[in-house]
Amino acid sequence: MAITFSVELTPKRPISKHYNVVMIGAGTGGIMIAAQLKNKKNDLRIAIIDPAETHYYQPAWTLVGAGIFDYEKTGRPMKSIIPAGCDWIQDAVT
Ligand SMILES: Cc1cc2nc3c(=O)[nH]c(=O)nc-3n(C[C@H](O)[C@H](O)[C@H](O)COP(=O)(O)OP(=O)(O)OC[C@H]3O[C@@H](n4cnc5c(N)ncnc54)[C@H](O)[C@@H]3O)c2cc1C
Repeated sequence: MAITFSVELTPKRPISKHYNVVMIGAGTGGIMIAAQLKNKKNDLRIAIIDPAETHYYQPAWTLVGAGIFDYEKTGRPMKSIIPAGCDWIQDAVT
């Protein structure tokens, strides 16, 4: 599989690596697709770009609103949910 496209970045540091897949956003969608691609083809080089320190599981916010779940428990450190073998680039795509 060869997926190639380019994005306009304003990186805080130069990015010298090359990737097969660049995921913009490490929300539920980006993380899920990156993990599935990596499971199907482990040698894919995948970068996930997201500026956030914390990943939030938004569906649980419904339970927070209902007063039966702690808001703090809906967030996890971003680095802890990046799929193994993928690179997290902490930056925003503009
Ligand atoms: C209250 C609530 C209840 C929900 N309940 C359900 C449910 O029961 N079932 C269900 O299936 N869905 C539910 N959803 C919807 C579900 O949470 C979303 O569809 C899902 O989180 C969307 O995932 P996403 O990856 O597209 O976006 P998000 O999870 O919103 O992630 C977007 C990511 O992109 C990053 N980002 C933003 N701008 C940039 C940029 N310029 N460059 C790089 N990264 C950027 C953000 O930091 C973020 O990490 C609910 C949503 C809410 C708010």
